[in-house]
Amino acid sequence: MEVILGSPRGFCAGVVRAIDIVELSLEKYGSPVYVRHEIVHNPFVVDDLRAKGAIFVDELDEVPDGGMVIFSAHGVSPDVRREGERRGLNVLDATCPLVTKVHVEAVKFGGNDHTVLLVGHRDHPETIGTSGEAPDRTIVVETVEEAEAVEVPDPSKVVVLTQTTLSVDDTREVVDTLRARFPKVILRNDICYATTNRQMAAKALAQESDVVLVIGARNSSNCNRLREVVEAAGVRAYLVNGPEEVTEEQVKGASTVGIVSGASTPETLVEAVIKMLKPSNIVFRKVIDEDVTFVLPKELRGEGSGTPGSHAADIAGGQ
Ligand code: SF4
Repeated sequence: MEVILGSPRGFCAGVVRAIDIVELSLEKYGSPVYVRHEIVHNPFVVDDLRAKGAIFVDELDEVPDGGMVIFSAHGVSPDVRREGERRGLNVLDATCPLVTKVHVEAVKFGGNDHTVLLVGHRDHPETIGTSGEAPDRTIVVETVEEAEAVEVPDPSKVVVLTQTTLSVDDTREVVDTLRARFPKVILRNDICYATTNRQMAAKALAQESDVVLVIGARNSSNCNRLREVVEAAGVRAYLVNGPEEVTEEQVKGASTVGIVSGASTPETLVEAVIKMLKPSNIVFRKVIDEDVTFVLPKELRGEGSGTPGSHAADIAGGQ
């Protein structure tokens, strides 16, 4: 059996930054450091940080007054930020700067009498957070059917924003439908570089693999989209968290197995799956180079006062 290893894969710049924020906070301030929601959608990462002293909570009422809390890479709504301020919590923000960019757009257009049509999964934390920026002016659109049916107060004042981790192809269909219905719509494609690049890698693997294993968590949006991209190309794909979820049935009869991983998947899990498959050969397929990095919050760069508070994410690099 030959393995074709797709690239780019694995951690994106936003995930690296979020994990660094938790680890550096633990080093600098000591335990307990609370993290609201899974810092990124991967149980291996969460368990590792929990073992280092992080305490994961669903809501801020689980954090004691004056405690330190980190917001996850998916972002939070302004209500959550206000709650943190009201409670006097020490907040560090691990929201990915590319998610923050979408929040800024929602504030700008929502405050300018536009209806914000937010293409995304309405139960995903990122979409919930972004919707909170202009809640009275935001409508979440998940599907083409919803795009065909959505009503807005003024069709000449509509902006379309997107969740960062959507399928590039599926989103195009939804956006085309909205554009046909609202010709004056302002379009913002917010699908991030990491999502786009990993989907390109998955498509390339589908062309030369008998089956593709996507390594990642079941609750990871970008990992699920990778599986769908491969399936849309007519090739079998399985989303597996690690080697323990790979079965003989999945790779039965396959002479080439493609492997790619989502933006929240540690490379150790990819290595473990390859080790378990024992391929006779490994071929590397890189579709594009990535060199994006994001700077840390100033409190963790050694330049701040040492006491965190609410602040916007800083961006260095970009796409
Ligand atoms: S997937 Fe994209 S938006 Fe999400 S954390 Fe990574 S770079 Fe940021």
